[in-house]
This record gives sequence, C-alpha cells and structure tokens, in this order.
Amino acid sequence: MTAPKPRASILEIAAYKPGRSKAGAGVAARKLSANESALGTSPRAREAYIDAAMNLHRYPDGSTTLLRQALADHFGTTPDRVICGHGSDDLIELLAIAYCGEGDEVIVTEHAFLIYSIAARTAGATPVVVPENGLRTDIEAILTGVTPRTKMVFVANPNNPTGTYISRAELNDLRARLRDDILLVVDAAYAEFADPEDYTPGLELARETDNVVMLRTFSKAYGLANLRLGWGCAAPAIIDILNRIRGPFNVSGPAQAAGIAALEDEVFMARVLTHNAEWRRWYTEALTRLGLEVVPSVANFLLFQFPDAERSAALADDYLTRHGLLLRRTDEYLLPNSLRVTIGTQEENEAVIAALTAFMNGDR
Ligand code: PMP
Repeated sequence: MTAPKPRASILEIAAYKPGRSKAGAGVAARKLSANESALGTSPRAREAYIDAAMNLHRYPDGSTTLLRQALADHFGTTPDRVICGHGSDDLIELLAIAYCGEGDEVIVTEHAFLIYSIAARTAGATPVVVPENGLRTDIEAILTGVTPRTKMVFVANPNNPTGTYISRAELNDLRARLRDDILLVVDAAYAEFADPEDYTPGLELARETDNVVMLRTFSKAYGLANLRLGWGCAAPAIIDILNRIRGPFNVSGPAQAAGIAALEDEVFMARVLTHNAEWRRWYTEALTRLGLEVVPSVANFLLFQFPDAERSAALADDYLTRHGLLLRRTDEYLLPNSLRVTIGTQEENEAVIAALTAFMNGDR
C-alpha cells in the first residue's frame, strides 16, 4: 500500500515546541517560558469573556465588526485596514499561504521567531535565513538576501527571543530599499513594552503603504494568550486577500468581546507597562551582577548568555527546573548557550535570581 504523501516542504518542518509548563513530579512550576503576562488578565476583559459565555451556542460575528472598529479607533486607522485572527500565528500562516508558494523565498533573520519559517514551508516556500548583527535585525543583511524569488520579509520588532529592536529610521529605510512587490511583515507582538522614542511597530507604514503588514497580539501585554487573539493592519487590498482564505469564524465571540474590553482598560495596561519597565531594569542589573551577559531588551523577557562549560545554559536550565523555575532554552533559535526568561511577578523574579545566584556560586 502507498501511504498518502504531504507536500515535500511540510516534511522539513520541525513542529513548534511551546514553552514548558510542567516541572518534575512533585515540584510546583513557575512558568516563565512563554512571555505571558506577569499580572494576569484585565479584569474588564475577563468580565466581558464571562458575559459572552451566555451565547456559546451561536456562531461569532465572522467579520469581527465591533472589534475591528475598536482597533481602528484605538490605533487611528479604518476597519478596512484591519483583520483579526486566532492569535497572530493565524495571520502569519495566512500571509505565507496567500503570498508565497513553491519556488518562492521568504527572508527571516538569524534568531527570528520560528513560526515564520514554519509558515513559509507550510506554503511550500523556502525560508532564507540572513545574519543578524549583535543579535539585532540587520537591514543590510536582509537587502543582501533578496533575490528575484523573494516574496516576503518577516521582521519581528522587537524580536523574540532576543528582545532587541530596530528604529523607525531603519524600518523606513528597509521598506524604501526593498522591491515594491516584496511584502514586508512587521511582527510587533511585544510593541506595548517597547518604550524607546525611536521605536515603531510599523503602524505608519501599515496605514500608508500598499506593501507592509503590521501584526499585533492580545497574548502578551493584554494578558489574553489563552483566548488566541491577534490582528493585523495593512492596505485594504491585502486585508481582502486574507479574508478570502481565513476561516470564516476564525475568532471566537468571547475573544472578540474580551479584546474590545481589554483595549478599553487603560488602567490595567498602565500597570502592566510600569511593572514591566521596573522589573526589566532590576532583572538586567541583577543578571549582569551575576556575570551573565544580558541582551538589552525592550520586551517583557530577557535573553542572557552563560560564561563557560561549567556554568552553561543547559546546566542552569536543569538546575532551575529542579527548583520549579521554567525558563526557555534557545537552542532552536541558534543560541545554545543562552536562556530566555519572561519578566514575572516580584516573587517569581526574585526566585529566579536567588536560584541563579546559587547556581553561579557552584550549587548543583
Ligand atoms: N510573534 C512573536 C514574535 C511571538 O513571540 C509570538 C508568541 N510567542 C507570536 C507572534 C504569536 O503570538 P500569538 O499567536 O499568541 O498572537
């Protein structure tokens, strides 16, 4: 018997591994491996979600009308430039399927979020990995990587797992020098946390050009990772293409309701951002004091590198896991001697630094 065969490029995909949520038997886990919200969910979003439970037997609004209007108002654009998805993962995949196929190339940066390459291969296209410079997106390397087959470029700004960003000037320069028929996707999943003045999530480009998509998510700063809600902003022609291929009800009603309430809850967002900025500073200093090399982060997580084989990321991860502290190994991101930690609650952050202090002092 001959078994059914998938497209060849699918067999090159290694399935995405989510951040761990379980420690060993009998050890209570603190999950700091998936860049989730340190402060939970907006109370207003949770209430809206609970209210929406009265209508679980109804299909949701397939056009996400109210949520798109709320996003358009909030971000200064029009609903015809907005599309929603079940997580930004949904939209990354739709973009690849819509614009790429066999023989096409998709540029991703050296330590980019892995879903871009998975999406490219899902579409039958080839991911082309270009170097970064000092763990930052390097626009010259992206431009050098362009060939006549290039269809799309993914830039995560800020990037995961590095936490670094490129400036508005760099992003504009990249767009100006890329061929017009190459779609630039700016994935700004961590935009809310990025406070430098010269940072941009690509909103202006997405509002004003025909060939830039900005992707955002409710999974991080808004604390709704479990609900699966993301959105994108782009020219109406691009939104129209994605609408043709998305699932007809790709965002559940409770997710739409919670998303609208989360957007309105400015008090919760302010708390989240203050907490993150304070603890990001504290963490960076504490890790540096331990002799760990911290990559300057503008996101809600930090990547840090271990010094030598006796004090390696693998040994540290094993030690932390035995103490119930689940961080993210970054081997698959070509960063074998680093760990990524999500900025958590005060108690979580202090527990990580206490355990790392013991580890760096030789405790095993
Ligand atoms: N982009 C980046 C850079 C991410 O880190 C993540 C989450 N890990 C996503 C997109 C996907 O987020 P979601 O599907 O939850 O919206």
